[in-house]
Amino acid sequence: MTGWAIEAGGYHSGRMPGIDLHAHTLYSDGTFTPRRSVGLARERGLDVLAITDHDTVDGLGEARAAGRELGVEVVPGIEFSTVSDGEGVHVLCYLMDADDAELAAELQRLREDRYTRGERMVAKLQGLGHPISFERVREIAEGGTIVRPHVAQALVEAGVVPTLKDAFSEELIGSGGRAYVEKHALAPVEALRLIHRAGGVCVLAHPGTFRETNPVPAALIEEMAAAGLDGIEASHPEHTEEVERRYVEMAESLGLLWTGGSDCHGDRYDPVRLGMRSTTREQFERLTARAAELRAAVAGGSGARPAVGGTRRRPAPPGLAGR
Ligand SMILES: [Zn+2]
Ligand SMILES: [Zn+2]
Repeated sequence: MTGWAIEAGGYHSGRMPGIDLHAHTLYSDGTFTPRRSVGLARERGLDVLAITDHDTVDGLGEARAAGRELGVEVVPGIEFSTVSDGEGVHVLCYLMDADDAELAAELQRLREDRYTRGERMVAKLQGLGHPISFERVREIAEGGTIVRPHVAQALVEAGVVPTLKDAFSEELIGSGGRAYVEKHALAPVEALRLIHRAGGVCVLAHPGTFRETNPVPAALIEEMAAAGLDGIEASHPEHTEEVERRYVEMAESLGLLWTGGSDCHGDRYDPVRLGMRSTTREQFERLTARAAELRAAVAGGSGARPAVGGTRRRPAPPGLAGR
C-alpha cells in the first residue's frame, strides 16, 4: 500500500489507480487464488486487473466475482503458449467470449495435452533416477493446468535441484533436455485467428524475452501485424526501459496499441510483482474499443473476420466474457 516506487515505464504508486494487464493465478502457474490476486490489486491501488492464466479461463468467474465485490475491474484474459520455429512465443488474449465453442475446444485440447505431458516428463525423470511423483506434481498444480514450473517445484522439494531455475537444464526439463516433452501448441498466427474469432483482442506478450534473452524476431511480429495483431506488451518486468521504448515505437509504427503488465505469478517468483508494470489509460481505452469492434464483427458474422463453419455465434455485451 505504501512505499511503492513509481517504476520506470509503469504508472503505479500506492494511490494512483493503475491498470495491470498480465497476472496468473493458481489456475495456471501462479500461487494466489483469483480472489487473492484481485484483493492484492485493490491493496496496491490498481483499478483494473487482467487475469491471464496460461491456456485456461477457469479462474475468471471467481476473479470477476471478487472484482465486483472489491471494486476492481477484472479484464478476462488468456495467455497462449504458442510455438514458432520450435521456440515459445506467448500471445495474450483479452475480452474474448470465453464461451466461444472453438475457443473452449482448443483450451480443452491444450489442458489434456498438458496433463499427459506432465505425466510423461515425470516418468522420464523417474527413469533418470529422480525421486518425484506425478501425484505430487498434481498437488502442486492444485487442479490447475500442469506446467513445467510445477514439475520444477517437485524437483526442488525432492532435493534434486536447489532452485526452480536449476530444473530448466539440459539434464532435466529445459527445452530439449533429457526429461523434456514437447507440447501441442498453436502457431502464433493460429492463436491470433482463434482469439479474433472469439471476439478477443490479441496482444503479443513480452516479445523481449524470446529464447530467454533474445527478442521475438521482427519478421514474426510483422507477420502477425499483417495478420491482424492488435497490440504489443511493451512494458514487462523483464524488459529494460530501453527495450520497452523500442516496443512502444514498434507498436506505434505498426499502428498497434501497446500494453504493460506485471506477469505476476503470486509468490512463486519474488518479489510479488502485481502492479509493478501497467498500461496507460489511453492504451487501455484503445484495447476496449478494439474489443467492441471485434465483438461487433463476430456478432454480425461478417466484416473483418472470416466466419467459421460450425462455430456458435452469439452477440454478447462487452465484459461478459468470463464464466
Ligand atoms: Zn508469458
Ligand atoms: Zn504470463
